Amino acid sequence: MDKKKLNKKIAIIGGGITGLTTALSLQRAGFNPIVYERAKQLNEIGAGIWLQPNAMQVLEGLGLKEEIILAGNILYNMEISSPNLTPLRTSKKGHLRAENQNKTIAIHRGVLQKILHRAWAQVGDIEFGVEYTSYTEKSETTKITFKNRTAEADLVLGADGIHSKVRHSLFPEAKLRDAEQICWRGVSNYTLPKEFHHIGNEAWGKGIRFGFSRINPKQVYWFAVARKNMITDAIGISQILEMFTDFHPLVIEIVKHTENIHAAPLHDLYRLPTWHKGNICLLGDAAHATTPNMGQGACQGIEDAYYMERFLSENPCKNAFIKFEQSRRKKVDYVVNNSWKFGQMVHHPFQQKILKLILKTTPQRILEKQLSQLYALED
Ligand SMILES: Cc1cc2nc3c(=O)[nH]c(=O)nc-3n(C[C@H](O)[C@H](O)[C@H](O)COP(=O)(O)OP(=O)(O)OC[C@H]3O[C@@H](n4cnc5c(N)ncnc54)[C@H](O)[C@@H]3O)c2cc1C
Repeated sequence: MDKKKLNKKIAIIGGGITGLTTALSLQRAGFNPIVYERAKQLNEIGAGIWLQPNAMQVLEGLGLKEEIILAGNILYNMEISSPNLTPLRTSKKGHLRAENQNKTIAIHRGVLQKILHRAWAQVGDIEFGVEYTSYTEKSETTKITFKNRTAEADLVLGADGIHSKVRHSLFPEAKLRDAEQICWRGVSNYTLPKEFHHIGNEAWGKGIRFGFSRINPKQVYWFAVARKNMITDAIGISQILEMFTDFHPLVIEIVKHTENIHAAPLHDLYRLPTWHKGNICLLGDAAHATTPNMGQGACQGIEDAYYMERFLSENPCKNAFIKFEQSRRKKVDYVVNNSWKFGQMVHHPFQQKILKLILKTTPQRILEKQLSQLYALED
C-alpha cells in the first residue's frame, strides 16, 4: 500500500482485548494507530477467560500463541455435566481433533491483558488516563474530545466495551438487554484433580449453574450463574457455598479457596442497525456485546481485529467499515442470538430438559460441523 494511505491517523478508543488486538493487527499491516485508554494504568484484575480456536488463530497470526499457551492452560474438551459432574456426553473425538488444531486456552484475564499490552507497547503508543466523551466531524477528519484533552484522527475505532460512550455518541438510542441473571466469578488458589486438568466444565442444576477450568497449575477460574429472582448479587461466599451444596464436593472446594469474588448482572446489546457512522466504527463489545454463555465475546472482538485489518488494508477509508460490517454481521448475530437463547433455556426448568435432550442426541458430526463453522476465519 502507498505510504500516504498508511499515514492515515487511526485512533482506537479503549485498550481492552479488542482495542489492543486491533492495534497490533493494524500495526502489522503497516499502520500506526494510537490507543486511548480511560484507565490510569494497565488493568490486571478480573477472573479467567476461555480463548477458543477462532481467537487463537488471530493471536497466532500476531505471534502471541506460544506465550498465551505457556501462561494459560490448554482445554481439549468442553463438557456440560449434571451437578455431580457426570458429563451429559463425552467426546473422545473432540480430544483427538483438538490435538491437531488450534485449541481453546483458559487464561487469567489480567495475564492476557498484560501479554497484549506488552506486545503493543513494544511497537506502538497507548495513552492511559484519557476518557472519551464526544466527537465532532470536521471536513476531512474527526476531532475527539476526552475529559482532559482533545485529539484528531482520520478514522476512529470505538472499542470501549459494553458501556461504550463512543456508541452512545453515534447511537444514543442503543440499549442493553437484561438477561435477568447474575454471574459471580472468581479465581481459586486450588489444584484440580488430574482428570479435570484439560476440561472446561459447566454443571447445570435447578436454576443455577457452575463452570470452571484450570488456568495454570495452581489456579482455577470459576463462574456461577443464578436467575435474578432467586437471589441478589450482594451475597457473600457462604451464600454461594450454600447455593451449591447439592453439587459435587469439588465445586465447594473451588469456591472455598477463593479470595475475591466479582458479581455482575448479565447483559447483551440489542442489535444495532449499523456499527458505523462517518469516520467512526464500533467493534468488540461496543458493537455487539453478547452474554457469556458461548464463551465467545472476546473471541468475536479478536475476530473483529482480524477483519478490520483486512478491510482497512484494502482501502483505509470509511468504505472499509461497510465491508467490515457486511463480513462480520452473520457470525456475530449467530453468536449473540444463540448465546442468549442458550442462557435463557439453561435457567428454565422445562427448557433445560429440552436442551439436555438436544445435547445428548445431536450427532457428533453435526456438533463438530457447527463448531468448525464458528471457528473458521476467511483467508
Ligand atoms: C461473566 C463473563 C464471562 C466471560 N467469559 C468469556 C470467555 O470465556 N471468552 C470470551 O471470549 N469472552 C468472554 N466474556 C466476554 C468478554 O469479557 C468481552 O467480550 C470482552 O472483554 C470485550 O472486550 P472489549 O475489548 O471489546 O471490551 P472491554 O474488555 O470492556 O474493554 C474496553 C476498554 O475500553 C476502556 N474504556 C471504556 N470506556 C472508555 C472511554 N470512555 N474512553 C477510553 N477508554 C474507555 C475500558 O477501560 C477497557 O479497557 C465474558 C464476559 C462475562 C461478563
